[in-house]
Amino acid sequence: MRKPRKAGEGSQRREEQPIPDTSPETPSQVSPYHLFSDADEVTRFRASLLSWYDQAKRDLPWRRRAAEEPDPDRRAYSVWVSEIMLQQTQVTTVIGYYTRWMQKWPALQDLAGASLEEVNQLWAGLGYYSRGRRLQEGAHKVVEELGGHIPRTADMLQKLLPGVGRYTAGAIASIAFGQVTGVVDGNVTRVLCRVRAIGADPGSPLVTQHLWSLAQQLVDPARPGDFNQAAMELGATVCTPRGPLCPECPVQGFCRSQKRVEKEQMVVSQRLLDSPEQKTLDVEECEPWRQDLGVTNFPRQPARKAPREQRAAVCVLQQLGSETSRFLLVQRPSSGLLAGLWEFPSVPAEDTESVQRRTLVKALRTWVGGPLALRSLRCLGEVIHVFSHIRQTYVVYNLTLEEQPQGLLPSGARWVTRAEFQAAAVPTAMKKVLRLFEGQPSRRGKASKSPQDPAGPGPGRQRHQLTLNAFFKPASTP
Ligand code: SF4
Repeated sequence: MRKPRKAGEGSQRREEQPIPDTSPETPSQVSPYHLFSDADEVTRFRASLLSWYDQAKRDLPWRRRAAEEPDPDRRAYSVWVSEIMLQQTQVTTVIGYYTRWMQKWPALQDLAGASLEEVNQLWAGLGYYSRGRRLQEGAHKVVEELGGHIPRTADMLQKLLPGVGRYTAGAIASIAFGQVTGVVDGNVTRVLCRVRAIGADPGSPLVTQHLWSLAQQLVDPARPGDFNQAAMELGATVCTPRGPLCPECPVQGFCRSQKRVEKEQMVVSQRLLDSPEQKTLDVEECEPWRQDLGVTNFPRQPARKAPREQRAAVCVLQQLGSETSRFLLVQRPSSGLLAGLWEFPSVPAEDTESVQRRTLVKALRTWVGGPLALRSLRCLGEVIHVFSHIRQTYVVYNLTLEEQPQGLLPSGARWVTRAEFQAAAVPTAMKKVLRLFEGQPSRRGKASKSPQDPAGPGPGRQRHQLTLNAFFKPASTP
């Protein structure tokens, strides 16, 4: 019996992209080496995996709900929420968000009645914010157009619900409604590629089609939801990306990557050539083989595109009060990255410090509706936050106001206390910005004392590095 592993290891849900709708038939050009051609082998594989799952599965709140909830719509809703949250996010992170979400909106009708601001607020910190918005849009649609009933089949789920792709549709249909349909996520991809020694690019149309076909062939007709969860659980806890626990694996006896490793070891020790049979395998192409990687030669790692570099200047505009300070937040546009979330005012980065400062102060004046002193603007350092496809650098400034500005704030701007900031729909990057600001020494009512640059240092200068070093020190370090 294997030791239980920490919840959250190896979460591999991908945010769903449109996947070509491939036929469940086995592609004719795939070699039998990558198939389960024998019905008896399929039956034994299912039995091994399910019996392991029954003993070793992690106790997760969405699993409890799916098992205990008698109402099919409530059950499907709870699976739907968990599957959307798990896309690109570790299980350990999701547990708290899921629990809070289900306490606040235990049924689809509750979510349909919530505002987007409330959804963003609860989602803050989980990333990929469009997921929460899509969930809420889906809840509206079910309540207003589908009579409050979630579609019962994978095809209809994918067709009718926003943000529900092929994987999520299959997961909801099999777990909540018992539809016999296989699923393929990142974990299942890894398990299947290893079990059937598939070494070609798992993102290619041929391999994608083959994996869905295998998943459909393997799914247990009596327990489809459990089987799909078992395959994902195996990938998350045993057949992990870098350190698979092969001796503890319930399907080791079916695993062709294990056999490939043994064969490669024999080839090395006996200095034999590879068998011609495997050289011609169409979805294998696991070349060059790396001896040190063993079974983790499968699946092939796709070439990663480096994230795009982007820079912006952001200002923590603070208004001092007799009891508590307040910060200016502005709302992002309703579409695009971090849509509808609140952040400190920002402008795109400029080439020179002087232009940067003027641009930033001009934007701040627009927000607060009054004059602001350029020379009081201090540069604090840089914060880097990596989104899925963007490496965003924020050059962080601060401007502290002694008095309340006279002008009225336009819509989409508001002053918040620190406590309100923490509870607001604010992205993680802005929380990092606030932490950098709070790591600075108090400068109440004072401009920078730097003799070289009364306005403080500019982006990229040595001072920034010093500031950042200070920021990363433990709070107790003097
Ligand atoms: Fe993965 Fe190892 Fe199990 Fe094969 S034997 S499926 S590589 S954990």
